Amino acid sequence: MRAVVIHAPKDLRIDSFPDLAPEAGEVRIKIAAGGICGSDLHYYHHGGFGAVRIQQPMALGHEIAGVIDAVGSGVSHLKAGMRVAVNPSKPCYSCIYCREGLRNQCLDMRFMGSAMRMPHVQGGFRENVTIDASQALPVADSLSLGEAAMAEPVAVCLHAGRQAGPLLGKRVLVTGCGPIGALMVVVARYDGAAEVVATDIADAPLGIARELGASLAVNVVNETSGLDPYRAGKGVFDVLFEASGNQAALRSALDLVRPGGIIVQLGLGGEMTLPVNAIVTKELQLRGTFRFDPEFELALRLMGEGLIDVKPLITATLPFDSAVDAFELASDRLKSMKVQLAF
Ligand code: ZN
Repeated sequence: MRAVVIHAPKDLRIDSFPDLAPEAGEVRIKIAAGGICGSDLHYYHHGGFGAVRIQQPMALGHEIAGVIDAVGSGVSHLKAGMRVAVNPSKPCYSCIYCREGLRNQCLDMRFMGSAMRMPHVQGGFRENVTIDASQALPVADSLSLGEAAMAEPVAVCLHAGRQAGPLLGKRVLVTGCGPIGALMVVVARYDGAAEVVATDIADAPLGIARELGASLAVNVVNETSGLDPYRAGKGVFDVLFEASGNQAALRSALDLVRPGGIIVQLGLGGEMTLPVNAIVTKELQLRGTFRFDPEFELALRLMGEGLIDVKPLITATLPFDSAVDAFELASDRLKSMKVQLAF
């Protein structure tokens, strides 16, 4: 069995990898599709992000879907041949946060394709993945396995939407239109936002944001006055989803959010300098959001019922043994939104 394994920055290889038979409570899945995420690109370009660094070879990937190939003892609700999406989260279910229902904050989380712990948790860019049966969720017949592999980023955005509270009738700004920002446009629309404005520094992702339902998509480099109407009074947006992780995007948006407005920070921006006075005097609420929990199943359900359509986001699918080409393509924001590997 082969896997897409990162060894060091820019050293991505197709390696042979152990193919495990499922033990009790496990299933083996023949992977069909795997989406390349921003964190996979960080491992590829920089060997990690922040304090998280590759210390041993690690298969990348945590946006995956496939077909069950073998079922371990004690698993009755899944059968060989079923199409499933893989939830890459495996919380411990026993720490204080798991017991409080905050499983995304688990103290002993095993998240696929993450170098946060040693040994690293191997990722899902492999021909076969053997996992706990609880991580395999059936996929509606109406969805392709490529679409099903988008359940993870959709779940991230549903969780972020939940952090903001009700969006019905609200005016929403999304800064940064990578896959996560673009999906935030979709989620804000689904949640009933009256207006969704998206910004980016490149035209190509803004075109997709428009296609996905943004009321207005503004290139903040070329159209410097495009957001002026939204500065009226003390700013008009009720909610900001900041998906770029860029300090300039967050700072400039502070003028556009109304007093008492909610800022949900999705982008991991490292260190930022902010005008705290603006946050204090406008009584802005700055909120974080991290991964997801029950939203994974919800994402699959909404996609399966046709209520959330991710097809416009999938801009390319390459064979997994061309992973280096796929990672380079995924790094080019002018050409790519979501690039997937086919296994
Ligand atoms: Zn836990």
